[in-house]
Amino acid sequence: MTERELYTLLNASNYEDVLRHFPSRYEDLKETPLIYPYVDYQRYVLKGTISNLRSLGKYKISIIRFNFTTFSGKMIPCIIINQPFYATILKSNSEKLIVVYYSETRKVFSVSTIINLDSYYAMSEIKPCYNLPRGVTHSYFVSYLKKILTNISLKSAVYSKVPLRYQKKYNLLDEYEAFRIIHFPKNKEELNIGLRVFKYEEALSYSIKSLLLRKESEKRKKQTLPIDKKKVNNFVMTLPYKLTSSQKEAVHDIVLDLEKEKVMYRLLQGDVGSGKTLVAFICLYANYLRNKQGVLLSPTFELAIQHYNNALKVFKNVDINIALLVGNMSLKEKRETLSKLNKGDIDILISTHAALSKDTVFKDLGLTIIDEQQLFGVKQRESLLNKSTTSDLLMMSATPIPRTLSMIINADLDVSTISELPFGDRKVETKVVNSADPIIDKAIKQCLLKNRQVFVVVPKIDENDKDTKSTEEVYNEYVLRYGKENVALLNGRIKKEERDKIFKEFATGAKKILVSTTVIEVGVDVKDAGLLIVYDANYFGLSSLHQLRGRIGRNGQFALALLIYDKNDKKAKEKLEFLAKNTDGMKISEYDLKMRGTGSYEGEQQSGKSELFVCNFVDDYKVFEASKNDANEILANLDDKENYEYLKWLDTDKKPLLS
Ligand code: ADP
Ligand code: MG
Repeated sequence: MTERELYTLLNASNYEDVLRHFPSRYEDLKETPLIYPYVDYQRYVLKGTISNLRSLGKYKISIIRFNFTTFSGKMIPCIIINQPFYATILKSNSEKLIVVYYSETRKVFSVSTIINLDSYYAMSEIKPCYNLPRGVTHSYFVSYLKKILTNISLKSAVYSKVPLRYQKKYNLLDEYEAFRIIHFPKNKEELNIGLRVFKYEEALSYSIKSLLLRKESEKRKKQTLPIDKKKVNNFVMTLPYKLTSSQKEAVHDIVLDLEKEKVMYRLLQGDVGSGKTLVAFICLYANYLRNKQGVLLSPTFELAIQHYNNALKVFKNVDINIALLVGNMSLKEKRETLSKLNKGDIDILISTHAALSKDTVFKDLGLTIIDEQQLFGVKQRESLLNKSTTSDLLMMSATPIPRTLSMIINADLDVSTISELPFGDRKVETKVVNSADPIIDKAIKQCLLKNRQVFVVVPKIDENDKDTKSTEEVYNEYVLRYGKENVALLNGRIKKEERDKIFKEFATGAKKILVSTTVIEVGVDVKDAGLLIVYDANYFGLSSLHQLRGRIGRNGQFALALLIYDKNDKKAKEKLEFLAKNTDGMKISEYDLKMRGTGSYEGEQQSGKSELFVCNFVDDYKVFEASKNDANEILANLDDKENYEYLKWLDTDKKPLLS
């Protein structure tokens, strides 16, 4: 490949862009002791000699076997599956460093990495791994990096844009040297010193951006209109439930905000099932009392329909016009709704994010509520701020985080937290099982017997991945086993017009088992659902799984969540077991935040792309704390040329640090 091709594929325009293609993770190559009895799933790093090398091709699968004798004299059997190129490069009697995982069932060590003993990485005990675009080989990329990083004449072209004062304050390394360390670390200690530079850069830029958003939102003014609290209270009395005290507090905060001159910019966070929807409805009612229109937006079509049906119930005794606007309506219906909205004949609009488009014009929008906003990042918040300059904005999120952490992540928002569930603890048991476990069939049959619904979730994975099943395959299997009359299928390939009908059949109990992609992750409220089965559960982040689990046991009765995992990655299994043992949403999102950002889980499906690439909010909390103070200082001193230049540079920096 040529240099130009590399730049095109990496979407880079200069050396620095190439250098900023950071490793997605580092592989630890420090030798580990090999002690019998070997531990199932355990990862070992060993140095030694290969012998008795043989390759066996069977049923289109390539298998290479060899024995490995460590330098301390222990011999183990090893296997390499489906990496036929090793057959041509490995030789018996050669000395190597290998990374292996032990399988107790097969009594063999399965090889994941082989490295020459004299390679740079084997000696530094740490190896960077990159996510590279198709067409860029690892070896070409690394040799190109080496070329840039050994060409001292380029040194002056690569420098940090962070004001010098702060580089000095934290004793940060020169940026060119930091790049060298990130890509060719001598050891872990050195790597940490290099990472500090980029962590600080990232945290400072994040802090500045969220402070700027905060300032922007604080400037926004609206017409002040008092709200009749007595009427709000009377309305609350008509609701089927008594509010929990956190719900009351949240309503109180929000209604106060509605009355202020400053436009509201608030986050309502609360664990899945804590009753955020009801709070939203009460606030929409308060907003209606000041003669303003309101809109409730949700990320999925299914959730919008559910909110609409709920709203009709909650507001049945109030003279208030509620309308639904979703993608599958006829053009005529849509036009009618939009025209009514424009004339002010609709008080509350329930919709999906599509309603943020230009065609949706309100007569007098007072309150915008976004449900499940955790699916969106700071960039989306920015675009929302720009959509409506006088409407109060409430975002709802089911990923609760500790207050101290929230002050960093959501520095631009006011936050209300619902800290309790209306029914107390939910009785949901979670188990990690393999797909052949008879408990799956047993649990399904029990639900069918007791007339309780079953959610079956299958992640959308690369079609070429032969190890994993598609929703269609699982559906067909279930139809054979439990009868067509019991099973429904819902995925992106099914037309929207039908999705509504299919979901209703399931929600009302006409069909008992729903096989779907993650459309049910957020919000869906089916009271009698008693069982959740998640295929290839490791493909989901923990917060997503916790949300999914929030779909069952909603009538207060016992419910079971089965997370299916067949592979043997110890880390993935640990992650799932963590979820099985923990029910506290706060703890789970903290764990999840820690795992995110650095992209340490390959192939994991993350809803909402993280805007952090080298930092994570939990481990690098201190960096964020420091950078937040510095960001305040920088923004307060824009007469300083360096500060000003830095801000200008941030503004043109539309590229993520890592892609
Ligand atoms: P989430 O916060 O995850 O959006 P929902 O708003 O869907 O949760 O509420 C979960 C369930 O709890 C719903 O069925 C809702 O009707 C019910 N609920 C909400 N508030 C209360 C309450 N104060 N008492 C009893 N049930 C409630
Ligand atoms: Mg909800």
